[in-house]
This record gives sequence, C-alpha cells and structure tokens, in this order.
Amino acid sequence: MLIDIRDIKKSTAAKKKYCFDEDIDIYENGSLCPLISVEAEFTNAGKTIIVKGILRSEIEIQCCKCLEPFSCKIDASFREEFLPYSHQAISSKKMMSPEDLDIFFYENDTIDLKEICRQLCLVSIPLMPLCKENCKGLCGSCGENLNISECSCNN
Ligand SMILES: [Zn+2]
Ligand SMILES: [Zn+2]
Repeated sequence: MLIDIRDIKKSTAAKKKYCFDEDIDIYENGSLCPLISVEAEFTNAGKTIIVKGILRSEIEIQCCKCLEPFSCKIDASFREEFLPYSHQAISSKKMMSPEDLDIFFYENDTIDLKEICRQLCLVSIPLMPLCKENCKGLCGSCGENLNISECSCNN
C-alpha cells in the first residue's frame, strides 16, 4: 500500500488516482486478514497531501449471539492529510489541538495507506456483530442454535 507521490509533489493542486486490492492484517496477529479494495485520490495541497478515498471489503466475522460466521460488508470513505516527516513537523504536532492529531506523516515521497486502512476496518467492524437483526442466538441450556431449530428446553 505504498504510493509514490513524487509526480504530484512537483506542482500544487496536482492530483492522481490510485486503486489497489490487497490483504490486510487487521489485528496484526494474522487472525483476520481480509482482502480490501481501495480507491484513493491524492491531491497536492501545498504543505500537505490530501488523500480521499473509499475502502470496500467483505470480512468474515462471528455473530456474537449464535457464534456462526457471516460476512460483514464494509464501505467506508476517508479523508486524511499527510505532512512530510521532519523533526520540525513532529514538534509542531505536539502543539496542535487534539482534533489535528490524526495528521499522518510520509517519508521519502511515499505515502503508506496501510495504517489508515487498518483503522478504518477496525472501526467498521461492529463490537457486537449480529448475523441478522433478529438472531435468536443459542439456547442457554442445551446450546442449540435457535435460528436453525427449536430445542425442547422450557424457556
Ligand atoms: Zn447470529
Ligand atoms: Zn435448549
């Protein structure tokens, strides 16, 4: 997910588009590595490079009620600003207001979208994923998946 921006750095307002499909390691431990599709547009805004884009994916996750795997669609847009990395930039970042703290840095005329994509996936996965709105879950006594069949317990 490294994008070379040397070409658009030459003139302010220059733009370029970049699309890629790549696997991403969401929890950085190999447990969930879906394929993501990203369409991004890079704009040279003078001091910063603005990146706007859309990330799409289908991630296989587990329902929190019935524990069945299901696929969760992600369609998330983003807009981030990148500053060239320098010690000066780092120290001025400390003086920025909290809402500016999500400014990213790039080095060697290359922008890495990996961390943005990973965080977008993280916030797009629901904390309590449900396979369907009215999932009946598992029976607390016998463990039967109540979406598939009724059990004979009396609750
Ligand atoms: Zn379920
Ligand atoms: Zn039961």
